[in-house]
Amino acid sequence: MRVAIDTEPGGTAPNEDWVAATASLALVLDGVSTAGLDTGCRHGVPWYVSQLGSRLVTALADPKESLPDGLATALEQVATLHPECDLANPGTPSATVAILRQREGFYDHLVLADSPIILEGPQDFTVITDLRVDDVLPDLRAEVEQYETHTEEHKEALQRFVTAQRQTRNTPSGYWVAAGSPTAAAHAIVGTTAAENVRSAAVLSDGTSRLVTEYGMATWAEVFATLRAGGPRALISNVREVEATDPTGRRWPRYKSGDDASVAFCQ
Ligand SMILES: [Zn+2]
Repeated sequence: MRVAIDTEPGGTAPNEDWVAATASLALVLDGVSTAGLDTGCRHGVPWYVSQLGSRLVTALADPKESLPDGLATALEQVATLHPECDLANPGTPSATVAILRQREGFYDHLVLADSPIILEGPQDFTVITDLRVDDVLPDLRAEVEQYETHTEEHKEALQRFVTAQRQTRNTPSGYWVAAGSPTAAAHAIVGTTAAENVRSAAVLSDGTSRLVTEYGMATWAEVFATLRAGGPRALISNVREVEATDPTGRRWPRYKSGDDASVAFCQ
């Protein structure tokens, strides 16, 4: 397959998304926000996603390695890179994972948390995503969303939300993300689609997919038309233009004005 990628930070902070592609693989990682809270790791989220991403590419270079096994291997390897950090800290750097891999006649996918893969079929679109993270702590989430993004109240509510969310992260009653232990790999959503049912595909971070799912400012058909015409850069520009019309999150309540946005467009 032919893959075009792009990624852009949502503001002045370093990008916590990571995207990569080969001729048979596309993957997007979205580092989970720390909201300025302690993580027990001196390396930080951008380091974590780049280390995990590059090890995933290596692990999955072997076509016989399944996507969950490759993820477990990569998670284990990254954990060994920083034994001096407190990986048992509930705020240890963590990330969503979305992987699409081509093999003869099929596409395999894996998603862990809310970075979606959208498959364009002959007739319609299939959205593959893991929204378990949205089911936890709805009251604290609602509290964050009642404040505009630039306010002190928003910052404090977000920290309360993230602190509580960390207690449910990678537990059976909560949701699963890539973090300090390989166990989360077994909780990823995986599947396979016959190649004849895939015309093209987009692997996105939620900073990009929110154009459709949160803002309602495009359909998937329009997203794919944009990708065909202008590539990933044009799609990310669309997201930023929409966000610029609502800079403080009054119309579309959110965690920050602009989120890191990534795209891998697979044709
Ligand atoms: Zn560390």
